[in-house]
Amino acid sequence: LFYGYASLAAVMRALNLVLLVFVRLNSQLIEVASRDALTRLLNRNGLDELVMRHFAARDARPITLLQIDIDHFKRINDSYGHAAGDRVLREVAASLAAHVRASDFIARVGGEEFLVGCVAADDGVARALAERLLAGVRKLDVRLPGAKLPVHCTVSIGISRRCGDLTAWERCWAEADRALYAAKAAGRDRVVSVNSLGADLR
Ligand code: GH3
Ligand code: MG
Ligand code: MG
Repeated sequence: LFYGYASLAAVMRALNLVLLVFVRLNSQLIEVASRDALTRLLNRNGLDELVMRHFAARDARPITLLQIDIDHFKRINDSYGHAAGDRVLREVAASLAAHVRASDFIARVGGEEFLVGCVAADDGVARALAERLLAGVRKLDVRLPGAKLPVHCTVSIGISRRCGDLTAWERCWAEADRALYAAKAAGRDRVVSVNSLGADLR
């Protein structure tokens, strides 16, 4: 009887271990699927899930979108190589993330493009955040191996109107994109809000 219990206990322990490993692997899998490997920010998949969950709540607060794009990033790749470009990308991502509040979110949505969701912010708050993000990147001194001087870069940011529900999401994102395009056209290294564009561009 004793040996019977002992082997049963051993089997239970082994099963427990298997379960533990399974749970751990599962959470790692979710992490890998929702985060970008280079910057560790949310990827498109992670962003979609988060937005879906956010607007599923009955009292979901509106989100203002900031579409961010690194200025003349191709030049950095062309001058210093792709690996150096990756390094700059990581540092810009870290700087942006450091300025985003815990209640807001940031995702990498393209090669050198990021989307920040500013929750329950009025125009002034979203704009102030965008200016802080801009200033943070401007201050970065990225040191590259082999380069004598640190590399500097800037970003341009477009701000949407407030997005109140999932059905408005794509429209608001397109607004942020149009505002970003206007920021690029106006000379880059600046923030443009879609509200400041003419009605035909809004
Ligand atoms: P603009 O100011 O108009 O945005 O100019 P830009 O050069 O930043 O824009 P463009 O879209 O011409 O170039 C983006 C570059 O970003 C081209 C592409 O090779 C580079 N890129 C995209 N993803 C990555 C990446 O993961 N790593 C590196 N090193 N480069 C990337
Ligand atoms: Mg781009
Ligand atoms: Mg760019």
